[in-house]
Amino acid sequence: MAKQKFKTEVGRLLHLITHSLYSHPEVFLRELISNASDAIDRLKYLTLTNDEFKGFAFVPRIDISFDQKDKSWLTVADTGIGMNGEELAKNLGTIANSGTRQFVESLGDQNLEDTNLIGQFGVGFYSAFMVADNVEVISKKAGEEQAYKWLSDGKGSFSVEEATAERNGTTVRLFLSDRGKEYANRWQIESIVKKYSNHIPFPIYLHFEEVKSEGEGDKKKEKREQKVEQVNSASALWRRPKNELKDEDYNEFYRTISHDTEDPLHFVHTKAEGALEYTTLFYIPKKAPFDLFFVNYKPGVKLYVKRVFITDDEKELLPTYLRFIQGIIDSEDLPLNVSREMLQENQILQNIRNASIKKILGELDTISQNTPEKYEEFYEQFGVCLKEGVYQDFSNREALLELLRYKSTTEKGLTSLKGYKERMGGEQKAIYYITGGSEDKLRNSPLLETYKQRGLEVLIMDHEIDELVAPVIGRYKDVELKSVGRSGTAEDLKTDADKEKEKEINPLLKKIKKILGDEVKDVRASTRLSDSPSCIVADDNDPTIQMQHIFKALGQKDLPEVKPILEINPDHAIVKKLSGTEDKELTEDISRLLFEQALIVEGAELAQPAEFAKRLNRVIAKSL
Ligand code: ADP
Repeated sequence: MAKQKFKTEVGRLLHLITHSLYSHPEVFLRELISNASDAIDRLKYLTLTNDEFKGFAFVPRIDISFDQKDKSWLTVADTGIGMNGEELAKNLGTIANSGTRQFVESLGDQNLEDTNLIGQFGVGFYSAFMVADNVEVISKKAGEEQAYKWLSDGKGSFSVEEATAERNGTTVRLFLSDRGKEYANRWQIESIVKKYSNHIPFPIYLHFEEVKSEGEGDKKKEKREQKVEQVNSASALWRRPKNELKDEDYNEFYRTISHDTEDPLHFVHTKAEGALEYTTLFYIPKKAPFDLFFVNYKPGVKLYVKRVFITDDEKELLPTYLRFIQGIIDSEDLPLNVSREMLQENQILQNIRNASIKKILGELDTISQNTPEKYEEFYEQFGVCLKEGVYQDFSNREALLELLRYKSTTEKGLTSLKGYKERMGGEQKAIYYITGGSEDKLRNSPLLETYKQRGLEVLIMDHEIDELVAPVIGRYKDVELKSVGRSGTAEDLKTDADKEKEKEINPLLKKIKKILGDEVKDVRASTRLSDSPSCIVADDNDPTIQMQHIFKALGQKDLPEVKPILEINPDHAIVKKLSGTEDKELTEDISRLLFEQALIVEGAELAQPAEFAKRLNRVIAKSL
């Protein structure tokens, strides 16, 4: 039997495989099963398309057996197309797959210790050498008479000789290394097959011995029984036509991939054909998972290539704001041996990703229009993720804006920006919103007084993230969004009478400004108040008090000190009387109290609460 040398690239790969560290040696089984499945697929195609194979006894199956006693070997046998002698030498002696070749080339002169990737993504057939000292492949090509045996210790050479085999197909026998012995175990094999190959569309049978003890005491005897059991579900559910699948099928599949005990809120199953061929099945859970807001959340979408599991730990399959989606992407066009780095830059995957985002957002829009109650249920759990989307994903901004919902001062429940725009009177110049605290606090904010009085709708943005997202929205269609807590916003509402009043109280404003000094940016007459004497607002380009809280909480240092603008209500009794008084001490106390109470209402901390209490008491004493 003639020894043949591996092609250099294979030699290099084998060296890597046997000398590097692996994070997941178990993937050898995934690779062998995947090859077996491909071989069966190819034969299946022939029986369907080639006259020579019409009537060929096609019995698709993959059989795994192992040496239960000594743990010395493990075999994976298929009834696929098989290989003849030449093909064994060519296919297993060179790297056929361009993905694998690219992978090896991309490694360059890298430190071998760093090549954990092999373990994570596998490199096809050769990964067998992660767990085996010697590998024997016996194969008989469908339609040919002679079988062949390929043998190698993975150290540079291999041999091919004639052999016998009962039927077409390939049997790969691994002579397990010390490291590989742990895989000669029924439970290990079962769990690896379920994890990686459950949806391989052909049955995978596991052969094992059941050991039972019979009799008692001295007469106790061990009885070994040969058993065969199918370990995979043998159906890639997402590959089946939609009209064959019932809701219950989808729901059951959801529960197995998500580990959720509840049914999903919604699912969408898409098969794309054309320039790119892929299938996606996405689920929206009913409830947010516990790790939704953890940085190291577990991504919910698994990547398959031609039904073979590739990874469930790739956060880039969808943008982070869609991290609540569970499901599957199965591509026909990606190479099986795609590495993590390749995944992230892969144009095919980018295209699938972009189409998937559009699909999901489109689906949400349909839900919101057809079943608004269902959409509210969704929004309650994941609305904040869509807001993150507005912040992160400019290319889908229009679609995302349509999906936002807010509480409102005039509407029950939640409203869309579209709904608000439709309700706007002809005079109204902007979509108004308020941020900065709980719903209750916002609804009672003095900043809303004039809007209430004039019957103008204001969106109540009571989530912390709104503080950051609302300014990013900027506009909805041609209408600007304006915060009622910003100095410029009330300019819209100013009448000539307001301007008149402003002039009148100008001397008082100056006086107050002098008293407060650099604690405020400015003191102005307010047009937004009716019941309250004062309020504070942020200058148009300054961060609001709540934004500053968020930045601080996020650990940002060296934040510039931002001062609020104090607004005074010219119509308020206190302000009117204050204009008339000559009492210097009282003027100072009341000026400060107007500022301090506005800060308290905004939820800001007072620098000197004890001074505030003293002032308050002095003023109360005077009024008694
Ligand atoms: P890949 O499967 O990515 O092409 P592998 O190294 O796993 O790379 O396999 C190399 C080639 O060997 C395959 O492309 C296929 O032609 C052949 N091969 C491997 N396993 C089998 C099998 N069980 N039956 C038939 N052909 C096989």
